Amino acid sequence: MKTSRTITHTTGSPMVNMGPIRLRQPIPNQGIEQVDPFILLHHYGPYAISEFNNPFDLGPHPHRGFEPITLLYKGEQLHRDSLGNESIVKAGDVQWTTAGRGIIHAEGPTKEFVQTGGELEGIQLWLNLPAKDKMMPAAYQHIKSREMPVVQNSDNSISLKIVAGELNGKKGLIKTQTPVNVFMVKTGSKGMIDIEIPNNHNALVYLLNGEVSVNNEATLKKGAAQMVVFNQEGEGFQLEARKESNVLILSGAPINEKITQYGPYVMNTQTEIMEAMRDYQQGKMGFLPN
Ligand code: MN
Repeated sequence: MKTSRTITHTTGSPMVNMGPIRLRQPIPNQGIEQVDPFILLHHYGPYAISEFNNPFDLGPHPHRGFEPITLLYKGEQLHRDSLGNESIVKAGDVQWTTAGRGIIHAEGPTKEFVQTGGELEGIQLWLNLPAKDKMMPAAYQHIKSREMPVVQNSDNSISLKIVAGELNGKKGLIKTQTPVNVFMVKTGSKGMIDIEIPNNHNALVYLLNGEVSVNNEATLKKGAAQMVVFNQEGEGFQLEARKESNVLILSGAPINEKITQYGPYVMNTQTEIMEAMRDYQQGKMGFLPN
């Protein structure tokens, strides 16, 4: 790599309360409103789920104007939506919902998983849509872990799964509306990998667990600094494992539009938020029984 990207932010992943659920929220966070086009990043769990403790069961709710994405690391979730999709998402799988003009979905641990009990851990990512695509028809994509192209470093100590976008000539299966890379990385206790990121993308590295260093400059460790955000200049960065780790790499071409978010809607103006609320009330985002 000729030039490394410089780091603009190194931050923690503070706990926030979302109703009965406590989870980590690196975006938005103090000093980081968004990393355009990524507007929200939630890291939930690992939670011990059982019949006596199952707070992460989200009933039917609407979305409009962006793409809510789930990357599941542990456990098993059932997804249902107003388009008629019903699928079981297993550890390592990704579901990518394009809310567009409106969708109603529900997700939570499967009945079987709750009965057996086990750990649930995942990432919930909100990816913005440009104004011209906010009212596109809703869509749902589910890809299984084994379907994702894999990139490995020279000694195979690090393996990277391409969910969306492209690395070293390999392409992810998810269809995106704007140029976006989503890479799920698993490292051994040692090893190094160079990651190339297109020049115009905003980019970040989020650590779920373990310990890594980035560009030999920032150390990410669970409970301490867990995310770095890069400057747009430079061709990429170097990731080095210090422990067995799970790392998420996100990059995307910025959309550069003003956004207005209210609850489950991400639009460009207040008027569009009012329209979203009205359209949901009038059933224009579809129906999903409880
Ligand atoms: Mn949702």
